[in-house]
Amino acid sequence: MNKKTRKIVYEKYGGRCAYCGQPIEMKDMQVDHIVPIARGHSDALMKANNIERGTENIDNYNPACRACNFRKGMLDIEEFREALMHGIDVLERNFTYRLMMRYGLIVKREPRTIKFFFEALR
Ligand SMILES: [Zn+2]
Repeated sequence: MNKKTRKIVYEKYGGRCAYCGQPIEMKDMQVDHIVPIARGHSDALMKANNIERGTENIDNYNPACRACNFRKGMLDIEEFREALMHGIDVLERNFTYRLMMRYGLIVKREPRTIKFFFEALR
């Protein structure tokens, strides 16, 4: 990817990760493929993610921090959301987490939904 395209992707959400919203340095930005390249052959998947012009297109690029890009991996947007939501179930099975809940050090937020940074901007 050339420097000019990287800069456009970086500025897409004001220098922040499209998913968690953390500010990221340009040098640390990872370019996420909203629909992963390897999965870009499904028209239904492309349509579900509002990508019209193929996987190697600016519409399909999101700026991402390392952590979000790592966790999203080969998932599309809804699969990524589900994976993150599943993380809560995993935590709730943890003894220390449950104990910290009991002591009020961790508070559940309801409703339990994840709105990605780029969705909140719309
Ligand atoms: Zn992030």
